[in-house]
Amino acid sequence: MSSTPTIGVLALQGDVREHLAALAAADAAAVPVRRPEELAGVDGLVIPGGESTTISKLAALFGLAEPLRAAIRDGLPVYGTCAGLIMLADKILDPRSGQETFGGIDMIVRRNAFGRQNESFEAFVDVRGVAGGPVEGVFIRAPWVESVGARAEVLAEYDGHIVAVRQGQVMATSFHPELTGDHRVHELFVHTVRTGS
Ligand code: GLN
Repeated sequence: MSSTPTIGVLALQGDVREHLAALAAADAAAVPVRRPEELAGVDGLVIPGGESTTISKLAALFGLAEPLRAAIRDGLPVYGTCAGLIMLADKILDPRSGQETFGGIDMIVRRNAFGRQNESFEAFVDVRGVAGGPVEGVFIRAPWVESVGARAEVLAEYDGHIVAVRQGQVMATSFHPELTGDHRVHELFVHTVRTGS
């Protein structure tokens, strides 16, 4: 692959602009993805933070849910933050009725685990694979990972809870690196897309 991969940001709802900017800063060509056909044009995909129940509904409505599930199964590298992490879980502990995920990581997540909007906070988190010290994690009505299966690798924990995970080329964080101006987690994902590892 060329040294500048094209990485899509699922642009149904959530903080799409911030991810486009963070990916561009991490040396990727960043493009919004709204339609199933657009999946074929990207080397990797980011699923932003926002509201997972809304993303789930809109993905079904736009005909993106099945093609995206299939693309992840076929090895598309994907990075999800917060609501995006929820969308990448094989299982949600407390789904809204009818809420479906794309899956891709053998883990069970708990939505809003760290509390409601007014309990949002920032904390420094050590992320495996990210050099140069802890990253600032912005947690907004954040989920945590209740448990991971054998295929998933824990990348970070905070306060005894799993907050970053990867399984092959699919990775997810409970927090939002796209909001801090520190692009190291996006660089890790761009590196994964570029090298396939
Ligand atoms: N709690 C939200 C959800 O269930 C996620 C919040 C976020 O993405 N900042 O989707």
